[in-house]
Amino acid sequence: MKTLFTRKRIFIGVIVLVMISALTIILLNPLLKGKYPFFFYRKNLTQYSIDVAFSPRDHRIDCSQQVRFINSQDTDLWNIYFHLYPNSFKYEEKPVFPPEEFDRAYPKGFSPGFLEIHKISLGGKPIPYTTEGYSEDILMLSPEKAIKPGKVIDIQLDYSVKLPNSPGRFGFWDNTYNIGNWYPIICVYDERGWNTEPYYPLGDPFYSDVADYKVSITAPKEFVIASTGDQVNTAEDGDQTIWELEAPSVRDFAWVASEKFRTLSKKVGETTVHSYFYDIDGGQKVLDYGIAALAIFNGMFGSYPYKNLSIVQTDFFIGGMEYPKIVMIDGSLYGMDEDDWLEIITVHEVAHQWWYGLVGNDQIHDAWMDEGLAEYSTVLYYGKYYDEAKERRMYQGLIDIGKYQLYKIYRSDENIDETIHRPLYSFEDWAEYDAMVYGKGAKMFHQLRQEMGDEAFFQVLKEYFEGNKYKNAKPRDLFEVCQEVTGQSWENFFQEWLYEEK
Ligand SMILES: [Zn+2]
Repeated sequence: MKTLFTRKRIFIGVIVLVMISALTIILLNPLLKGKYPFFFYRKNLTQYSIDVAFSPRDHRIDCSQQVRFINSQDTDLWNIYFHLYPNSFKYEEKPVFPPEEFDRAYPKGFSPGFLEIHKISLGGKPIPYTTEGYSEDILMLSPEKAIKPGKVIDIQLDYSVKLPNSPGRFGFWDNTYNIGNWYPIICVYDERGWNTEPYYPLGDPFYSDVADYKVSITAPKEFVIASTGDQVNTAEDGDQTIWELEAPSVRDFAWVASEKFRTLSKKVGETTVHSYFYDIDGGQKVLDYGIAALAIFNGMFGSYPYKNLSIVQTDFFIGGMEYPKIVMIDGSLYGMDEDDWLEIITVHEVAHQWWYGLVGNDQIHDAWMDEGLAEYSTVLYYGKYYDEAKERRMYQGLIDIGKYQLYKIYRSDENIDETIHRPLYSFEDWAEYDAMVYGKGAKMFHQLRQEMGDEAFFQVLKEYFEGNKYKNAKPRDLFEVCQEVTGQSWENFFQEWLYEEK
């Protein structure tokens, strides 16, 4: 089509354009006027800017945090809620680990972690706040006036965090300081309202929105920091190093510090994969697995948009843990002669970069969405990297028999609740959660592939990724993509697999 402009039309067009530009500048002016501490790619994202002083000898971090929050809802907000996850580690009688894991979580006995608030202000003025929730793990701020839709507010929080002596995703042990879920993060506001769930002992009890982050960490110079952020600068200040880190469009920010880290890096596509390790044996292997998984998933689901991904050996006793652009891997897997588990866990955590990191979901109520897909993606990796026979063996061994059939045999004398789609707190223990969410969850995706065929199945994964990246997906978003790609409804299929015995 070719459009013909007369001179008069061009003149009117220019006037209109000038008016629109002027109006845009006037409307955006309060936002642009040196107020934004920084601004990345996407509008309406919350911005976190955190200055951290890390004192490893005291197992403590002191933080000064600015949050620029935009009310992107179409309703007035009278309160704002933050998770204070460190407080979930405060009380021995309210543990964040199930009883069967307690000894491994605290090999030297219980050690508390917590977050102590010093000061909170809004727009430069102190603001009343309360802590609530199961372990005072929720912070509620009540501004004097409601926050109108589109309104931008600046919150300043000064606080200290005490780290527990525990080899988990939040704590320290002999080799590493694992700093996950450590700062006040705004709760998700969705159709349920504010999501203020506590830190459940099973699964990954997190749900968050994508935001922009700038984090500066001052640490003793012997320490190396691996993190969600891209390293934009490091500066020496006496016996300290200041690490300046940036992470646009991520749903959380985690870091690991160690005096023992060595690193290896390699680029794949637009992303550099970094392996941080203290056992030489595993460092190169993990880098190779990470590179292979990233390349395979780039082609299978859609390109990983970030510049860096760090895979980190940690004192971590539960396999692996995913955070945006960084994953923690159980350090004891590195020195083993048999490296099957090191590969499986590395690939599973890398798959979470797509299913959790980019396409987010409510991990408390819809855990199957990221865990089932990350687990099945691991099986798919084996088919691409090795061959179909290896993929079949992994599917049988890891999923069908390993997690699902054996569980049913083991629990045969009991009534098994085969519902996959239920909240974390309704699972009795890790065995049940693992069998249903990972095992039956991955089986469901395998069956979906069998029924719709490879071409449609991989098209579904690509479209689901593309349409939901940087957002939080609901089950319905996945069902709709299946219908769009195949032209038929999959409601009954999902209904059966998510809620009925198989
Ligand atoms: Zn997982």
